[in-house]
Amino acid sequence: MLKPLVVGNWKMHGSQAMVEALVKKLLSLAGNLDNVDWVVCPPYPYLEKVATYLKESVIELGGQNHAAVLEGAYTGEVSPSMLKDLGASWVILGHSERRYGLGESVSFVAEKTQLALTTGLKPIFCVGETEAQRKSGCTEALLEQQLDPLLHGLAPDVLQNLTLAYEPVWAIGTGMTATPEQAGEVHDFLRKLLVKYDESLAGSVRILYGGSVKPSNAEDLIAVPDIDGFLVGGASLQAQSFFEIGEACIRSY
Ligand code: PEP
Repeated sequence: MLKPLVVGNWKMHGSQAMVEALVKKLLSLAGNLDNVDWVVCPPYPYLEKVATYLKESVIELGGQNHAAVLEGAYTGEVSPSMLKDLGASWVILGHSERRYGLGESVSFVAEKTQLALTTGLKPIFCVGETEAQRKSGCTEALLEQQLDPLLHGLAPDVLQNLTLAYEPVWAIGTGMTATPEQAGEVHDFLRKLLVKYDESLAGSVRILYGGSVKPSNAEDLIAVPDIDGFLVGGASLQAQSFFEIGEACIRSY
């Protein structure tokens, strides 16, 4: 089994005071526990503050998105090299709130992910289907379509730092978690896609599950072969819940 990875996506939540309290509590619970990899992704304005707290701890920092170019006249955008400069080593790309909510296309997300990899960030590349797409039976075709431009744009050695996250859109922030069977089928499919591309890469890329993960369902989900950790939204805003999700991963490792 690959070492589990647990990523907290704080989305556009918080304030200076809230973020400070959250990171302090998390450090007291998980700051020295390294049998799982921990990452938190705060909103941009709080990255630097959180980075200061995380120094000397095992918890790593990530961004929630970045631009498709390194620098230039792109008002409101943030460059991957700026994330690195602030101490982030990870970045979430292709989150459904950006693909479906903000209209980011398959090729745009792949382009940004390629830039993350070549800039030395570790991208968490999200894929997932809507409820309607699942009902119409096109989940696998859609996921392949989301992943294909990324895999075929880069050599396997550059993709070593890639992490995938399967996030069914119907499960994000809805309380409707995929069952272990549903998640297992998709994770197995994604692993096989990676094998077709490059067998050794497939053995090292972690595939996270995301979508209403909580301490109460983490244990059953992490027991599924090919689920290598979690991308957590709502429950990552409570240090105790996020920690308990990580503990479930540690127990299964
Ligand atoms: C997410 O936004 O990536 C996510 C999985 O959210 P939640 O855990 O709240 O469903």
